[in-house]
Amino acid sequence: MRREIIAGNWKMNFTADQTASFLKDVKAELGGLDKVVLFCVPYTDILAAVEAVKGTDIQIGAQNMHYEASGAYTGEISAEMLLEAGVTYVIIGHSERRSYYNETDEGVNKKVRRALEVGLNPIMCCGETLQQREEGVLKEVIRTQIVGGFAGIAAADAKKVIVAYEPIWAIGTGVTATDEQAEEMCAFIRQVLCELYGDVSEEISILYGGSVNEKNAKSLMSMPNIDGGLVGGASLKPSFVQVVNYE
Ligand code: PEP
Repeated sequence: MRREIIAGNWKMNFTADQTASFLKDVKAELGGLDKVVLFCVPYTDILAAVEAVKGTDIQIGAQNMHYEASGAYTGEISAEMLLEAGVTYVIIGHSERRSYYNETDEGVNKKVRRALEVGLNPIMCCGETLQQREEGVLKEVIRTQIVGGFAGIAAADAKKVIVAYEPIWAIGTGVTATDEQAEEMCAFIRQVLCELYGDVSEEISILYGGSVNEKNAKSLMSMPNIDGGLVGGASLKPSFVQVVNYE
């Protein structure tokens, strides 16, 4: 019933040439897919990536977008531009954008709504810092991010949003949340979504992200409320194929 998704987030890595060569190798290794597999690449790699995966089911995503359709926003990219380039998914509100570029829940919400309007699949990120976890405010933080991110979104659209739970202390650190910690928070997110949308919450895919690799993917992905992964560092390596084929 829920989409199972393995999404790579390349962050600011790989040139267009490197993109073409990496994806050529990965697509040859991946073969037929039984889940959604996508790579969220830098803007300047999008055309090369779309070309490289042509004829396969691999999807190409972006890592951010602006919430306006056009206008005087120097350095920004609109949802329409992404769509035209062949992008089908977009990460919104990654913790790196929240912390380095001051993205707020309100801004995240505007972007998610805009992505839905044009038909892009938004991957909305949420997650707590280690300090917030240690102070015991973890669930409040996540609830605020989810309620804020979904504000004004009707149930019919809500089920098109993918949520990525990414504890900040686990991103790029090699410290993965335990299966139980990840499941507890993904189940909590589903509970908050249930309060907002009732049974529709069962149709929303929730991913775990934070140092996922080919060794821990299987046990994380087999937790009942984890419907896939958002994978940073490990999506830049040939072993990403094993993350995808974790079974
Ligand atoms: C990410 O950037 O979304 C991420 C989860 O990174 P990593 O897998 O490297 O921790």
